[in-house]
Amino acid sequence: MVHVKSVELTNFKSFSGTSRVPLLEGFTVISGPNGSGKSNLLDSLLFCLGLASSKGMRADRLPDLVNTNQSGKPRSAVEMSVTVTFDLSDYVTSSLDKSPKISTVEEAENNPNLVRIAGEIDNSKETKNEKIRSEKIQVQKDGEWSVTRRLRVNPQGTYTSNYYINGISSTLTELHQDLADLHIYPEGYNIVLQGDVTSIISMNANERREIIDELAGVAAFDRKINQARKT
Ligand code: ATP
Ligand code: MG
Repeated sequence: MVHVKSVELTNFKSFSGTSRVPLLEGFTVISGPNGSGKSNLLDSLLFCLGLASSKGMRADRLPDLVNTNQSGKPRSAVEMSVTVTFDLSDYVTSSLDKSPKISTVEEAENNPNLVRIAGEIDNSKETKNEKIRSEKIQVQKDGEWSVTRRLRVNPQGTYTSNYYINGISSTLTELHQDLADLHIYPEGYNIVLQGDVTSIISMNANERREIIDELAGVAAFDRKINQARKT
């Protein structure tokens, strides 16, 4: 099963310095007293994978996610980062079964299956490029695939945020494309937060239906249809 192997946090919320949290395949329980940082660990996943706004991570703005012990150094910039390492060994096996590796537009054009699929939707080059990108999660040795997000807060309070896939600078759109291949979506319920269960119980039938659409992957297509109608 595709799973998160470890999370490494540097100066994220209550995690001062660098901590590496290993997660096991299947089921890992993290227990601890109130306020000890259990939910902060989930917030760090949301932060690193670009799945939530700062409010979704219980902070007014991104710099509030930096460990407060770091603010004792007023003249220098502070850095906070989170790295999430996935084990994609199973993803590699299943995606190789399904489709050949394709890395250029030429290869895609010479592949009758792929061009036919792209042609059905839209014959433009962009569509083919998008299709090619989505085949291309670059898995490292031991099936590892890692995402890092680094936040640098300047003494003036301004900040920069950068994403890296396997250490290579990437855009949030590229990251979201790769994550979508793994069925991880910003609107999805891959991460169920404290209070989510209670809110699901108190939802009406329509709202609950939206969750099922999301889990079944139908909602992603609805969004694409709506987007296409707008343009
Ligand atoms: P509960 O069992 O009550 O849900 P929890 O283990 O989930 O607790 P968290 O919500 O993860 O606890 O952690 C809350 C703690 O994180 C608080 O003590 C808060 O002070 C601390 N915290 C939040 N942001 C920062 C920050 N930027 N710097 C340092 N500490 C922070
Ligand atoms: Mg909590």
